[in-house]
Amino acid sequence: MSSNERKVTCLVCPRGCIMTVTSDLKVSGNFCARGIPYALQEVKEPKRNLTYVVKVAGKETPLPVRTDEMIAKHLIPEVVKILRQTVVQAPVAFNAVIIENVLGTGVNIISSAELK
Ligand code: SF4
Repeated sequence: MSSNERKVTCLVCPRGCIMTVTSDLKVSGNFCARGIPYALQEVKEPKRNLTYVVKVAGKETPLPVRTDEMIAKHLIPEVVKILRQTVVQAPVAFNAVIIENVLGTGVNIISSAELK
């Protein structure tokens, strides 16, 4: 591998192809076409889904939450800080928006469970 190439492990499916992206953004090592946009995104601005929990007022058990789209990886520690300070009130519907447009990213934090 030259210093101008990057290795990227595709996380789109469990096969986990190890791809190579060259400096002129040519992708190889992908078994299927879905790996290409993933590899290019990973080189430009890596993104991840985030799952976490938030406190529920008056309850011991926290509420599981997640991003409704992938979010830039470098923002995840900042989002986790916000989620640690977040307290929700029951009831909460499944998929309810807990934090809209977190950090101005256009991504919402939504409930992964129903809370009665
Ligand atoms: S390139 Fe295609 S087959 Fe390989 S891990 Fe990605 S989605 Fe799966």
